[in-house]
Amino acid sequence: MTLELREVSKRYAGAGETVDAVDRVSLTVAPGEFVALYGPSGSGKTTLLMLAAAIMQPDDGSVMFDGREVSGLSAGERARYRREQTGVVFQSFHLTGASALDNAAVKLLALGMTLGEAHAAARPWLERVGLDRRIQHAPTEMSMGERQRVAIARALVSNPRLLLADEPTGNLDSRRSREILGMLADIVHEHRISALLATHDPQATAFVDRIHTMRDGQLSEGLDFELRPVLP
Ligand code: ADP
Ligand code: MG
Repeated sequence: MTLELREVSKRYAGAGETVDAVDRVSLTVAPGEFVALYGPSGSGKTTLLMLAAAIMQPDDGSVMFDGREVSGLSAGERARYRREQTGVVFQSFHLTGASALDNAAVKLLALGMTLGEAHAAARPWLERVGLDRRIQHAPTEMSMGERQRVAIARALVSNPRLLLADEPTGNLDSRRSREILGMLADIVHEHRISALLATHDPQATAFVDRIHTMRDGQLSEGLDFELRPVLP
């Protein structure tokens, strides 16, 4: 299902001044497309992902998903959209002390599954992200790369149609980052998920289908010349 942002804006009211965190952004992400939002810290990437996930509401413009205006739904319907259609991966994982299996299963409990059903559904995703032998381990016993794999499995267990990844490689070295980015690209293509990746990692450009540059809340197509990384 297609994500479409139409002239979306979000302002934050600060002490005396307002910040145009997202400034009239239009963007379409089709099923199976892995799209990067590339930009420096403070350029509005996280805010844009939160708008797409309906965690935050735009001041102007509309967020459409599958032809429906998500930004026009009631709070209850938006919560349902988040639960049923979206998966979110954060830089800092947000995992609990429980096992990888419990962490990955938690969203399915919220969707009404029993613990047994949730574990059965989570297991293949943990295998898919390469954690088959670590299923009963707690994230605290895992490397950063493994923790991010748990967080990715947790985001995907509900079979979301929209994946939002906010600097998922921000805590990883460059080799682990490439592994994670390659895996995300494969999963997005295999499952035809619409996916938005916020990043300032130049390596990401090699794994995505399309790049948009964010700068001061504004989006432009392709890599912004001044931000263009030195690519190998
Ligand atoms: P990025 O993810 O690219 O670093 P953000 O979306 O976090 O960008 O931030 C965009 C701009 O909005 C920045 O100028 C940031 O300081 C500001 N901002 C983000 N969150 C808030 C907030 N809750 N209140 C006020 N300003 C914010
Ligand atoms: Mg951010």
